Amino acid sequence: MKNAVPEIGSPARTKAILNRYHLVAKKSLGQNFLSDLNILRNIVAAGDVTEQDNVIEIGPGIGALTEQLAKRAHKVVAFEIDENLLPVLDETLLDYNNVKIINEDILKVNLPEVVKDEFEPGHPLKLVANLPYYITTPILMAVLQSTVDFDAIVVMMQAEVADRMVASPGSKAYGSLSVVMQYRAHVEIAFDVPRTAFIPQPNVDSAILRLTPREPLPVNPYEDKALFSFVKGCFAHRRKSLWNNLQGIFGKQPEVRERIESVLNQTKISRQLRPERLTLINFIELTNAFHNEGLM
Ligand code: SAM
Repeated sequence: MKNAVPEIGSPARTKAILNRYHLVAKKSLGQNFLSDLNILRNIVAAGDVTEQDNVIEIGPGIGALTEQLAKRAHKVVAFEIDENLLPVLDETLLDYNNVKIINEDILKVNLPEVVKDEFEPGHPLKLVANLPYYITTPILMAVLQSTVDFDAIVVMMQAEVADRMVASPGSKAYGSLSVVMQYRAHVEIAFDVPRTAFIPQPNVDSAILRLTPREPLPVNPYEDKALFSFVKGCFAHRRKSLWNNLQGIFGKQPEVRERIESVLNQTKISRQLRPERLTLINFIELTNAFHNEGLM
């Protein structure tokens, strides 16, 4: 009578699993379990997951999203830090022989090595996850900076963070996170998720972010790390002009100011602009020009 058991992500089954294992969601690990089957299926659809795909999941929890992924993907490898959840996952995912759970902190994992060891080559690779919110940005930065090439990344996060990641120049939410993410990938919000879809309910609403490989840029920075730290420096005081922020980064000595001015003239960027007006291309051009000027 296996068919009678509702899927893991239904509210009734989620509650039953939490009760059966006496699980209390750990706030410190960002444990909010998604219990809405439509939303779970829509996340998998946003990643266009097919039987060809290898999928990495971060934080399977009690296995709600993992189950939906396992039903459609070729293989799923999921990293879960909380060892108390391992016996739960053993039972909830018993029927799926294409799932491997790895009990590790995603921030300490050597992702390229896991991909090489766990997946047969020749399949598209996707990352699909309901991320632990307290480390959303470090996880995405680590993933995007690793040498692993994902065909798609579909991740749930706090709506406010997703808004910052997709923000355009000139908007209030635009900042260093927008520039860095948009440098790495094409970033879009797939759909919003209300807080009521979780057990326990978080204090914030969520959104599903989809990242796909971006088209090549007309100009590239001489070094990624230099671009990132330059962008961060430019947004240190977002209410101040670019001119002020640049002096904050490079110094105020008359000789340095002259060189800053020369770079602004070369790149034809006004010193009066606030950093939030600069595009990704502006930031890349400035990074390269300051490098050529010997300031970086
Ligand atoms: N995927 C489940 C769902 O959608 O219901 C649970 C998502 S819950 C928001 C985040 C999960 O990430 C939790 O299971 C938590 O234990 C796990 N987690 C937290 N920090 C982690 C880390 N550093 N590495 C791996 N997993 C982590």
